[in-house]
Amino acid sequence: MQNTLYIYNSLTRKKELFVPLHPPFAGLYVCGPTVYSDTHLGHARPAITFDLLFRYLTHLGYKVRYVRNITDVGHLENDADEGEDKIQKKARLEHLEPMEVVQKYMNNFHKNMEKLNTLAPSIEPRATGHIIEQQEFIKSILKNGYAYEVNGSVYFDISKYSEKYPYGKLSGRVLEDLKGNLRELEGQEEKRNPFDFALWKKASPEHLMQWPSPWGNGFPGWHIECSVMSTKYLGETFDIHGGGMDLRFPHHECEIAQSTAALGKESVKYWIHNNMITINGQKMARSLGNFITLDQLFSGNHSTLKQAYDPMTIRFFILQAHYRSTIDFSNEALQSAEKGLRKLMQAANTLKKINPETSSTVDITSLKTKCYEAMDDDLNSPVLLSHLFEGVKIINSVNDGLEKINNEDLELLKNIFQIFVFDVLGLKDQTDTDIDEELTENLISIIINLRQDAKNRKEWEISDKIREDLKKTGIVLKDKKDGVEWERE
Ligand code: ZN
Repeated sequence: MQNTLYIYNSLTRKKELFVPLHPPFAGLYVCGPTVYSDTHLGHARPAITFDLLFRYLTHLGYKVRYVRNITDVGHLENDADEGEDKIQKKARLEHLEPMEVVQKYMNNFHKNMEKLNTLAPSIEPRATGHIIEQQEFIKSILKNGYAYEVNGSVYFDISKYSEKYPYGKLSGRVLEDLKGNLRELEGQEEKRNPFDFALWKKASPEHLMQWPSPWGNGFPGWHIECSVMSTKYLGETFDIHGGGMDLRFPHHECEIAQSTAALGKESVKYWIHNNMITINGQKMARSLGNFITLDQLFSGNHSTLKQAYDPMTIRFFILQAHYRSTIDFSNEALQSAEKGLRKLMQAANTLKKINPETSSTVDITSLKTKCYEAMDDDLNSPVLLSHLFEGVKIINSVNDGLEKINNEDLELLKNIFQIFVFDVLGLKDQTDTDIDEELTENLISIIINLRQDAKNRKEWEISDKIREDLKKTGIVLKDKKDGVEWERE
């Protein structure tokens, strides 16, 4: 197994050689979405970043267990300990059951993840499915003296924790700064210190999602689910924890504190964070009118969009930037990504048709080495793409008769494209599916016309057989007054 992958660890703030705790196994936990609205552009970046990591680790031969959670309770409106539960609020506004809200937006998330060609995680645990485990975890924190109960709620005691462990090591925030920055929020008076955070919240009688607990009826805080589900499925210590940079504080900082307080040790070896997306230089926000969902992006149905963009264009565009750089969406940038992707896919198709010569004038071996070096350097996808475009240049030159390639080099070049374009970057030729659709349409209309000819000759047996045989393949014909329509069963 190749082991020259360096990844940037947000905890130590440097690139480190990836050495898993239990090779050949690699554990990867990524914070997934809170499912209360349609999947938006902001979800696409972590999904693609960690899909790239998952794909590359798998390619290197690791047996990766990739766990990505679904937050379906406990994430309150202001991302802190006050305000309405985001899912409950949506349920109230849409007159749905909270679990209907969860199902609806989880389905939307899965549909869009599939369009972006991200591989499904190995396990996708939900917070509401792990209430008992969360209570057990909170009990351990209480037992170890790092939490306290007030009036049916349980809070994490940061002052107590800071006596023994460094709180703020991931985000670089110092407790003194935190004290100064906090606004006086309603309901904070229960806490011993305003920067303490909720592990369990007492539920008011009208609160829709609540469970019995040793502290009375309530619901878990937002951060505890990730400490619980990551260690449940990956072990008390595991390799990689990922998420968006916006989650470093408070979410991941709180996760570190919870796991350390409950288990007496840190759980995560490498913390990896992807940077944020801006739109025309602005942060994406509902209030700024530039909030774009993936459905809108794929259909072009949004005032800031000049056209629809293929999911693969979005994927390519995101991979064109290194995951730790910010990335700015604009129509111009997406249109140029669309062109770039087309050029890459055209070359991949040309490659299939090239015939080898007896000698080579091109150097393919060093190209493969450079591709691996780019990925080993903290998943440097933009540099990898620049090497793949060197490959595109070679393919086009060979195709134009300007260069020669022998069989060995040709196979190597095909291998490079298979590994890096398709397996690792997870790109695919969007036009393939479009062409298949068009071909199906055309073939079925030819068959319908043949059947009509048979009917005109009163050859009922043949016309019935055509209909029956089509039905067996899942195509249903409907005889209408003005012709025949068809649909998939
Ligand atoms: Zn999380």
